[in-house]
Amino acid sequence: MLKALRILICSSIIFSSPVVFAGALESLYFPNLNIVNTLNGELEINNHGIYNIKYEIYHEELMFSDRYLVDKVQKNVSLLIDFSKTNHFDISNDCRSRDIFEIYDLSVSTLNSESFESLPTGKNRWGLFTILPEEEYRVAMIITHHQSIITNEALIAHEVAHYFWDRFCIWRSSSVTSEEFSQRYELYYRELITDSADAR
Ligand SMILES: [Zn+2]
Repeated sequence: MLKALRILICSSIIFSSPVVFAGALESLYFPNLNIVNTLNGELEINNHGIYNIKYEIYHEELMFSDRYLVDKVQKNVSLLIDFSKTNHFDISNDCRSRDIFEIYDLSVSTLNSESFESLPTGKNRWGLFTILPEEEYRVAMIITHHQSIITNEALIAHEVAHYFWDRFCIWRSSSVTSEEFSQRYELYYRELITDSADAR
């Protein structure tokens, strides 16, 4: 059954699942909103090793396509491997490979509503990454949509960096915090996309 649904995209393999269910973050924080689960799958990243990411995608407004989100997660995790090697962050410990990565495409107003006040990172948020301690082996990222393509890309890069820091337990071997790591990677990513735009 899974084989029949196999789709090849570049070097990644996505196993689509027809099962639709509520995400853990959704059940915990916004059970009354109309959130649609559009895709569940597994992404393979082949860069200095093979890493799999199980993910589930949820939309409030369908501002980003599933394909765009999967491509950005794949691209950023691969770049984060390069970034970590260049900057001597130890990623030999793939300590949270079992986690399911819930990806939410929400409006800014929902992300800044009372539902999320108990989560860290303050007011006027555009994105969020959190582990879900109530649900073992689940983490979640929320992103919002903005006019600028570069803003959207940098926001996703930043939140995926939080995922990466947690996934490889970088805190075990480095004093760099998740926020510092994500800000540094975001800068690196912004330079990369600006350079590639200049080269065109
Ligand atoms: Zn952050």
